[in-house]
Amino acid sequence: MKVPLLDIKAQYDTIREQLRDTVLKVLDSQAYINGPEVAELERRLAEYCDCTVGVGVSSGTDALLCSLMTLGIGSGHEVITTPYTFFATAGSIWRTGARPVFVDIDPKTFNIDTTKLEDAVTERTRAIMPVHLFGQMADMTTIMQVAARHDLVVIEDACQAIGATHNGQKAGSVGTVGCFSFYPSKNLGGIGDGGMIVTADQDLGQRLAMFRNHGNETTYYHTYVGGNFRLDTIQAAALLVKLDHLDKWSAGRRANAARYNELFAEVEEVTPPVIAEGNLSVFNQYVVRVPKRDELRTYLNEQGIGSSIYYPLSLHQQKCFECLGYDACDFPESRRATNESLALPIYAELTDEQLQLVAATIKQFYAD
Ligand SMILES: *Cc1c(COP(=O)(O)O)cnc(C)c1O
Repeated sequence: MKVPLLDIKAQYDTIREQLRDTVLKVLDSQAYINGPEVAELERRLAEYCDCTVGVGVSSGTDALLCSLMTLGIGSGHEVITTPYTFFATAGSIWRTGARPVFVDIDPKTFNIDTTKLEDAVTERTRAIMPVHLFGQMADMTTIMQVAARHDLVVIEDACQAIGATHNGQKAGSVGTVGCFSFYPSKNLGGIGDGGMIVTADQDLGQRLAMFRNHGNETTYYHTYVGGNFRLDTIQAAALLVKLDHLDKWSAGRRANAARYNELFAEVEEVTPPVIAEGNLSVFNQYVVRVPKRDELRTYLNEQGIGSSIYYPLSLHQQKCFECLGYDACDFPESRRATNESLALPIYAELTDEQLQLVAATIKQFYAD
């Protein structure tokens, strides 16, 4: 029996006919750009996130970039974020001309350590970009307090956390804006690239929609310099089909996580993920800390079990960010996480037999 890290075909098989019908409908309509499905997805996703405006965009990366541009962030500004995240978080900050300023992570949750946040604020700071890593929200309570004290905007990188909550508040609804990705491996995955920005601020929503389309006021009349960050109709149509299943899929991931926690209780080498009090995770990834991580990964691979390392290198150590002048020794918790963390299969369609096999194989590795 093989257990891949992610089996998107298993999910596809359950909605194959609906997906094919909806894609064919868009083909027949020929409304490839800005078709009615885009507006409907924007409305439904804003509602799902307890926000009032949704702005469909071309990817999670473009959701971040478009948000930063619309909020006026650029040259001479600093944006505080985490060094332990997917590259796009800091990459989008850099692309506006602003400087990403890293703050180390809390070793328990892998999210930005909010006790260190205030020390990173300078007179150039304009925004905080927290990441809700692996499906669990960052400590938005403290982040919003610091932001209010220093008059900063907050851009939630919620690309891995659609549907997650912190003290009952939905990911993307707490900050100034929330950014989502529909990359196929995310909890709500499209049939290609896509993304969404949500906000509760109507005026900001209007400006975001303009920046998404070259800063158009009306066609060929440009108020701002934006970009082509549009979401394709075909993606919106596919996502509308999938949105109806999202809560069920995320609940499946949570149930699998609970089962792993139970199975790993007797494997002392494995430290399961910690979910902070008040948080509900959607487990985009189930990431454990383990000794001899790379050997374990090789062993699992030999046994037909998929796993992955999120992330092998802290962003302050990336070649392209050498110019930021950080020391390799900075952010020790982020660096420790890059050496110890391992993501295991967690998708909703896993069987109990498969979960047991993953746990038993890991137990076997440490018993040998
Ligand atoms: C996936 C992801 C992104 C980027 O999303 P794309 O749709 O791939 O551009 C940004 N930030 C985080 C934390 C992500 O996981």
